[in-house]
Amino acid sequence: MNSWIIIVDERRIGGMLNAVRNLEGQAVAVVIGSQALAQTAAKYSFDKIMFFAAAENVPREVYARQIAIKAKEEAPDVVIATDAPTARVILGTIARQLDAAVVSNVRALSKNGNVLTAVRSAVEGKVLEDIEISGKISAVFDGDDEDMSAEAAPAIENIVLDAPTADAKIVEKAGSSNEAGIENADRVIGVGMGVTAKDDLKMIEDLVAAADAEIACTLPICDDMRWFPSQRVIGSSHHQIAPQLYIAMGISGQPQHMSGIRDAQVIVAVNNDPDARIFKNCDYGIVGDFHKIAPALMEAFKHA
Ligand SMILES: Cc1cc2nc3c(=O)[nH]c(=O)nc-3n(C[C@H](O)[C@H](O)[C@H](O)COP(=O)(O)OP(=O)(O)OC[C@H]3O[C@@H](n4cnc5c(N)ncnc54)[C@H](O)[C@@H]3O)c2cc1C
Repeated sequence: MNSWIIIVDERRIGGMLNAVRNLEGQAVAVVIGSQALAQTAAKYSFDKIMFFAAAENVPREVYARQIAIKAKEEAPDVVIATDAPTARVILGTIARQLDAAVVSNVRALSKNGNVLTAVRSAVEGKVLEDIEISGKISAVFDGDDEDMSAEAAPAIENIVLDAPTADAKIVEKAGSSNEAGIENADRVIGVGMGVTAKDDLKMIEDLVAAADAEIACTLPICDDMRWFPSQRVIGSSHHQIAPQLYIAMGISGQPQHMSGIRDAQVIVAVNNDPDARIFKNCDYGIVGDFHKIAPALMEAFKHA
């Protein structure tokens, strides 16, 4: 039972590889992007890497059909990708070529004879359900990352892509989180609706400066309060980030927000409600009013 792991960025490569490792057969990394990304994939214990070098300034989705035609030739039983927008387009196009079942929120996969079982999260992550599939599957991965380093680098096969037939090129990245600096920041501090007065932002901004961090926010802080532009919104419908440290100030922890920080190394939550959902999904939880906690954290950063 061979698997394709679609790689369009560095997120959760080890987690996806781990999910297909139980299935026996080959685990093939399918890298769409730059040579540097292919080299990153080569650090993981794949059996093989297929590298589709995408032209610069061409949206990688344009190549989805060519990659899907290659998938038809190779006929992998399992194709897995993260929910990154580019990966989802490629996964969906492959699924159509392979006539595969598309299953979202997949945490783990196992195999019994010819039947595959996908464990997927449902009801906003409160429930895990098993789905049995007898044909091919295209899975959107929702599990955690894992260390799956390679002892020896797998071979990289370069696949030549035809020039895109669609006349599409990236002229400007509107609303890019890079523009706001949050994508590459080591530390990000997120502002939520618990920060009710705009004047209180000054306190958070002082903390941001002391921590040498970037400021981000939840969707209602952008859409309803209009305190920040959409470049700073974190979550499923906006930006996914992977900082070393994310501090959530007055954020309840709804799944749409948390999916944007699932690759953060350490999550600290500050919330005055001890039952806030975010406390179930953080590394350190501080129950308290941000008016008191923000200045205390600022002092701690200043003296660190
Ligand atoms: C299709 C769809 C897509 C969405 N996409 C996104 C997305 O990409 N990103 C996103 O963020 N949201 C998104 N949302 C919205 C999401 O569902 C939540 O509504 C939102 O994330 C909640 O924001 P919040 O945590 O700031 O506010 P709230 O849920 O109102 O939480 C505020 C928190 O602050 C705490 N608090 C109050 N006072 C204090 C205090 N003094 N000190 C400390 N804590 C305090 C409260 O206990 C509470 O937990 C989406 C929703 C939908 C339907």
